[in-house]
Amino acid sequence: MKPEELFHKIYQSAKRLNFQIYVVGGYVRDKLLGKQVKDIDFVVVGDAMKFADALKEDLHLRTVVRYPRFGTFMARYYGYQLEFVNAREESYQKNSRKPVTKQADLFSDLSRRDFTINTLAMDISPERFGEIIDIYNGRKDLQDGIIRTPLDPVKTFSDDPLRMLRAIRFAAQLDFTIEEKTFAAIQANAHRLSIISQERITDEFNKILMTEKPSKGLKLLDESGLLNVFFPELTRLKGVEQRKGFHHKDVFYHTLEVVDNVAAKGADLKLRLAALLHDIGKPATKRFDEQAGWTFHGHEVVGQRMAKKILKRFKYSNDIIQYVCKLVGLHLRPMALVGEEVTDSAIRRLIFLAGDDLDDLMTLCKADITSKIPSKVKRYLQNYDYVLKRINEVEERDRLRNFQPPVDGNEIMQRFGLKPGPQVGKIKKFILEAILNGDVPNEHDACLDYILKHKDELLSDGGNREKKNG
Ligand code: ATP
Ligand code: MG
Repeated sequence: MKPEELFHKIYQSAKRLNFQIYVVGGYVRDKLLGKQVKDIDFVVVGDAMKFADALKEDLHLRTVVRYPRFGTFMARYYGYQLEFVNAREESYQKNSRKPVTKQADLFSDLSRRDFTINTLAMDISPERFGEIIDIYNGRKDLQDGIIRTPLDPVKTFSDDPLRMLRAIRFAAQLDFTIEEKTFAAIQANAHRLSIISQERITDEFNKILMTEKPSKGLKLLDESGLLNVFFPELTRLKGVEQRKGFHHKDVFYHTLEVVDNVAAKGADLKLRLAALLHDIGKPATKRFDEQAGWTFHGHEVVGQRMAKKILKRFKYSNDIIQYVCKLVGLHLRPMALVGEEVTDSAIRRLIFLAGDDLDDLMTLCKADITSKIPSKVKRYLQNYDYVLKRINEVEERDRLRNFQPPVDGNEIMQRFGLKPGPQVGKIKKFILEAILNGDVPNEHDACLDYILKHKDELLSDGGNREKKNG
């Protein structure tokens, strides 16, 4: 269904109740920018709950989700995500972001919105269809690429500190500039972000990470002082130089480059997070060595622990946490495989450890090559290609990526006359080690022969040792 047709139907329902209705916010903004979106926000001048009833009937909506306390409801219709809200005025108490609201007209509703580019409304009556209502010069700011609050920025941000994060999110998404006074007000109020719930912060942060060039938003977060409020571990990467010599590299800016690099490869959120956190353990492990200059031994292990803590605090899912920790912990391994003397066994182990995430690990690894010295980049890229080639060779031969034990537990029990217990696990581990070592190919018959050959050894001292060790 075309949006015009949708708007016409919705307008008719409003008219039946004698309510005014307008399209507002993101849809109008994005339409003027030439983007079609399926998320549409409406302002209803009148009782939104009554309008929910009327609309449900007129459009035969199956479900409408109502939030009577906030005067809003949502519905899906022909692939559109529709949100309706009562025109309202808001007043805020100092230490909460829950406003006291009362019904109002369209203009006061528009004035409570966060940025001029979000105060645009569109008329959907047949008489004035498509006319833009623009009381804060939002259209000009949209043309000029400017993020600015419609009212006094200090008040806007102290009313709802999440708006500070939204300012940066929109600047990052649209590649806009935050107007000077607005930005100064963010810097002055950054500390107040602490009253906002982590879920809402994480939501905006994700949107910033998912932009085309995340470094833009991340730099703004840093310059505004907001990053230090909700992500101090990241600001601590600043001023941590890498190695001795003239090519000092700051870990913070290096990290931003790595995030941009994975973003350019179309990385999803979790890979972007892994890039963001890959060096997070560096400040804590920094030591000076007369020969090597600054070193960061074990930063991947410390980093893994820190990543887990940070991601939990940010309320990411366990899947994301596990994935990111794995990549942070392994991020140095591929490049450590450079050199003739590296055995296939070391490569097999990496393939096995990375499992399904091997491709992402390699993407991260390549993105991590960021030197400003072309000869160095060239050398590292050659090393990278060499490692990738060896991984592919070993992988093709041994098919370790989605490792399934070639002899399963049932067969082990049957052949060895065992009951379920730790001994079965031990034999499985014995097979895995033999495959990784290259003592036996990753095939059923060969592995079965191999364990049968070692049967006595596996059954005798193995069982006893298992028991002694508890
Ligand atoms: P997108 O959907 O792309 O994130 P959007 O502008 O539609 O962008 P929403 O969060 O969907 O953003 O909000 C819809 C509209 O509601 C905004 O355009 C803005 O006018 C208003 N709005 C949302 N959050 C706030 C806020 N915290 N303070 C003031 N106005 C807000
Ligand atoms: Mg929206």
